[in-house]
Amino acid sequence: MTVTSRTVEIRENVFMPRLGFGVYKIPADETTTLVRTAIELGYRGIDTASLYGNERGVGQAVRDCGLPREELFVTTKLWNTEHGYDAALRAFDTSRRELGLDYVDLYLVHWPQPRLDRYVETWRALEKILADGGARAIGVSNFQAPHLERLLAETDIPPAVNQVELHPWLQQAALRDFHQRHGIVTEAWRPLGGGPELFAEEVVRTVAQKHGRTPAQVVLRWHLEMGHVVIPKSAHSERIAENAAILDFELDSQDIAGFATLERGQRLGPHPDET
Ligand code: NAD
Repeated sequence: MTVTSRTVEIRENVFMPRLGFGVYKIPADETTTLVRTAIELGYRGIDTASLYGNERGVGQAVRDCGLPREELFVTTKLWNTEHGYDAALRAFDTSRRELGLDYVDLYLVHWPQPRLDRYVETWRALEKILADGGARAIGVSNFQAPHLERLLAETDIPPAVNQVELHPWLQQAALRDFHQRHGIVTEAWRPLGGGPELFAEEVVRTVAQKHGRTPAQVVLRWHLEMGHVVIPKSAHSERIAENAAILDFELDSQDIAGFATLERGQRLGPHPDET
């Protein structure tokens, strides 16, 4: 199976790297160094959020790394306390100021917060941010099909991306199918399923051995074969490098069939309806 491009077009002329560096739980004072390391190792996408408290470090790395801004792809997200039209516009201004960037490449609504029931109004603010050039693309995270359906029915611009919990134990077949039907790109968070326990699965070990790769690499490669954008996180440079070395081999249909058997419908993070 071949992933032909390092990027996916998420909106006309907006190309998102299929591999990005996630910075959840990376301490603010280590963020600049680690993001610079990731960029040196070939990552071009960076995934942060106002919740993570490290947008400033991300922005500094992006500004100082020596690459033209347009070669990097920065995602940030609006937090749960920032829903509502005016609040969302203010939240975006704060994120952009923290990042110290003129624009972000992708701005996401972090969680739908269905009990609050303001995500449609919040989305209209993101449409305004897009129209004003503050973000090159807009999307959502942790949205379930009914939440997406409401956005599609009640607003003008469909989300370019839905970033959801997705790993071999939670393969999200129905949601991925919904995305495909509506032209929404699937982005996987917790792509490594948190690490060691998934890496010990017989299927993962066998596929890794067969290709002479590490378990982390074959899991990440599985995501690429499935068409997902992936954003693995690590605070160690050797693992950051390991996770990036996934573009020079392929899984075959037998490997993919093996991964299919790992589905357990198991969430490791919160349920979107309950957050
Ligand atoms: P992940 O699946 O990337 O796992 C990260 C953990 O796996 C690391 O802490 C490390 O312990 C281990 N690991 C990483 N590389 C390894 C390697 N090569 N070998 C062995 N162990 C390795 O999970 P994550 O950090 O939760 O998710 C990745 C990114 O997704 C986050 O940094 C964040 O950007 C994003 N995210 C988004 C949401 C959301 O609600 N939108 C939620 C969680 C995470």
